[in-house]
Amino acid sequence: MRYISTRDEQHQVSPAEALGRGLAPGGGLYVPKSFPDLSIETLLGLTDPIALTTALLGPFLAPDLDAAQLERIVRRALHFPLPLTDHEGRARVLELYHGPTAAFKDVGAGFLSAAFSELGQTGRTIVVATSGDTGGAVAQAFADYPDERVVILYPRGMVSARQEQQLTCWPDHITSIRVSGSFDDCQRLAKQALNDAELVDQLRLTSANSISIGRLLPQMSYYAVSSLAGYREHGASSHYIIPTGNLGNALAAIWLRSLGFPIGQIVLATNANRTIPDYLEDGIWSPGETVATLASAMDVGNPSNMERLNHLLPDLQHLRDSVTAHAVEDRDIEARIRQDYQCHGRFWCPHSASAAVVHDRIRTDPAEHWILVATAHAAKFNDIVEPLINAPVPVPESLAAILARPSRAVDMPPQWSAFRSILARLRRSD
Ligand SMILES: *Cc1c(COP(=O)(O)O)cnc(C)c1O
Repeated sequence: MRYISTRDEQHQVSPAEALGRGLAPGGGLYVPKSFPDLSIETLLGLTDPIALTTALLGPFLAPDLDAAQLERIVRRALHFPLPLTDHEGRARVLELYHGPTAAFKDVGAGFLSAAFSELGQTGRTIVVATSGDTGGAVAQAFADYPDERVVILYPRGMVSARQEQQLTCWPDHITSIRVSGSFDDCQRLAKQALNDAELVDQLRLTSANSISIGRLLPQMSYYAVSSLAGYREHGASSHYIIPTGNLGNALAAIWLRSLGFPIGQIVLATNANRTIPDYLEDGIWSPGETVATLASAMDVGNPSNMERLNHLLPDLQHLRDSVTAHAVEDRDIEARIRQDYQCHGRFWCPHSASAAVVHDRIRTDPAEHWILVATAHAAKFNDIVEPLINAPVPVPESLAAILARPSRAVDMPPQWSAFRSILARLRRSD
């Protein structure tokens, strides 16, 4: 497989280079040059998620990783269950929150850290901008790899208390920076660092954001597992509603559908950050200021992965045929969390609740097979969920272990000069 940049098709790199660099030169994003021809018939026979994911991702990582290496990586990424549970007999919920930091990002982060290790790409500095969940997942995934350095940028006051704990409770090779700005500021600073040739060279900088191909590719795994399970059961495609911020999770589903997997409609649920729904509606890309919402991990005014989706589907009408998007206001998220706890005993996190709101809004045909994607555990957002339902949310064991650790962070204004000098100090402390 070769990867090209969204901004320069002549720039082609191997899988190992695409993983190692994170961002393509000139600020482009890596995308597969072409999608491999996979035999869905053969993959249908693979009921073990590890075997299926290894077979699916093999062509995307060849020739740099062989099947045995890839299987070891996949085992680290998918070491927890991915259950499909019933939703009022009308749909199913794909629960992606049974990993160590209780959000779907554990899959991509676990894959990336293990892939760097298998590829011998160690001694790097990994920069992550996070709106809450990425940073924790990446820190957790790299906590056991002290030869790597991780720098996390997160927006002050815009993450939940438990998310902040997950961002700041790690060993010394992980630096957490609390930025007095928005997630978009954090993302801009991370991109700026990755475009600074001197720093990239001296610190061996790379990214672990959802712009990294090493996070996107493994996210195809749970759509592959669930869509093939649905096909085995019903002989039909599954439709998905996906809580969306930076569009990394949904893009994995869209890529997987391009490979011929039995996936029908893909519906994006955004929060009040309406850049994507507005774009699909009027065809004008006008990234706005980030609005703070209850679903804070989706507070993205300028979703980076749109560049990849536009690269796949440059024609607006094709794009509209491929995905739809609905914006959900906080009050609807609150009502859904309250009601589904009272009526069904379900604990939604605010992000996952947005998918449930959209499911009601689009009034799906009962004969169709809909899957609502639950992206995080409600216990991670207990400060929002518990007052709504008037009950405690049970804390999963792995989350409880993280909450018990000491934490620390560095405060920083949202300025490049400040970030650059922190990075320069890291270099000197070598
Ligand atoms: C990151 C995140 C999202 C948004 O995913 P994107 O890939 O950025 O679209 C949704 N929900 C939760 C809980 C998240 O952590």
